[in-house]
Amino acid sequence: MILLISDLHLEEERPDITRAFLRFLQERAVRADALYILGDFFEVWIGDDGMTPFQHQIAAALRQLSETGTHVFLMHGNRDFLIGRAFCREAGCTLLKDPSVVALEGERVLLMHGDSLCTADEAYMRMRRILRNPLVLFILRHLPLGKRRQLARKLRNESRAQTRMKAAEITDVTPAEVERVMREHRVHTLIHGHTHRPDVHSLSVNGQSLQRIVLGDWDKQGWALQIDDHGLVQTPFPLEA
Ligand code: MN
Repeated sequence: MILLISDLHLEEERPDITRAFLRFLQERAVRADALYILGDFFEVWIGDDGMTPFQHQIAAALRQLSETGTHVFLMHGNRDFLIGRAFCREAGCTLLKDPSVVALEGERVLLMHGDSLCTADEAYMRMRRILRNPLVLFILRHLPLGKRRQLARKLRNESRAQTRMKAAEITDVTPAEVERVMREHRVHTLIHGHTHRPDVHSLSVNGQSLQRIVLGDWDKQGWALQIDDHGLVQTPFPLEA
C-alpha cells in the first residue's frame, strides 16, 4: 500500500495540522510500503542550517517512520524548495526530482508538485525560473539566516496578496501543459498538488484516456491518496481525532 500527500504547509502556528500529521504517521503511514510527500510539506524553509526545534521534531518523526520500514520520498514545493540533503539525512527520506516517473503498484506514474503546470501565471513562472537557477540557489543558501528569514517573509506576503487578486484560471494548471508533460513522459496517470483543488480529472488525448489526480491541501481537513490492490482512492479526514 502506498500513500501520497502534499501541501501540509507545516508551521508552528498550526499545531492542529502538526498533530494530525503525527497521528497520520502512527496510524496509517506505518502500514504503508512508501509515503510520497509531493511538496509544500513546510510552509517555509530558509535552509537546512536554519532548522527550528519544530522542524527537527518533524524530521525525527519521519525518521522514526522510515526506521519501521516505510520508504519516505520528498519532493520540493514552491515554499520549501530549499530543503536539502542535511534535512533528508536527518529525516531518513529520499529527495525526488520534480518531475519524477515512479512505478506505483506496477503502473508508471508521473509525480509533480504542480506549480510548473500553472503556466498562465507568467509573473510566477518568471519568479520560479529565477529562484530555481543554480547560481541564485547558491547565493540564497549562503545569505545570512536573518536575511533569508526576511526574504522568506517578503515572498510569502507578496504571494498571498497576489493570489487573492489573480483569477482562478490563472492559479490552476494549464490543460495544454498537462497534456505536454504527460506525452513527454509517456504516462497515463499524473499526480500533483499545489493548486489546493483535490479532484480526479479524466482526459482523453489522441484517443487515450488519461487521468490527473490532484492532492488536497491540509487546512480544514487532511487528505491522503491511497494506492493498493483495490485501486486508487483519495479521502479527506478530520484534523482532530
Ligand atoms: Mn505549492
